[in-house]
Amino acid sequence: MRILGSKQQVFCSLCKKELKRKYKPQEEWKIEGFLCSDCHIEKTKEFALKRDVCAICKGDPGDIALKPRWQWNMEPGSVLCQTCFNNKDADFNKKLEFCIICNRKMGFVRYNPKPAWKINGQMCRSCWDSRNERK
Ligand SMILES: [Zn+2]
Ligand SMILES: [Zn+2]
Ligand SMILES: [Zn+2]
Repeated sequence: MRILGSKQQVFCSLCKKELKRKYKPQEEWKIEGFLCSDCHIEKTKEFALKRDVCAICKGDPGDIALKPRWQWNMEPGSVLCQTCFNNKDADFNKKLEFCIICNRKMGFVRYNPKPAWKINGQMCRSCWDSRNERK
């Protein structure tokens, strides 16, 4: 006996092979539907080669493609041009100096938000406390 609703064939959008495991194409590939693992790997490679554009301005970073700092939480593998790197760096340092919630300049004591709060920056003591009480 067949289980109801389980019989839906899906084919690879590129090679038309029937899929046992579906792989979702990346948005930038502009492919509808799903891919088999082979085609997915091929496409990933193809785009990885092309992909040396700055993650922020989409410009060509040239020979000095810079890796974003890990604290910036950018896509793995992205690169930045010198200008965007500098801007981002300045921006990030500014964030470190000011409380992300109340914008007050912080002294030496800063608090890192808990990961569950999904806050991208550092907080002053009072904001941290009040956020922590809220749960
Ligand atoms: Zn395929
Ligand atoms: Zn750039
Ligand atoms: Zn604050």
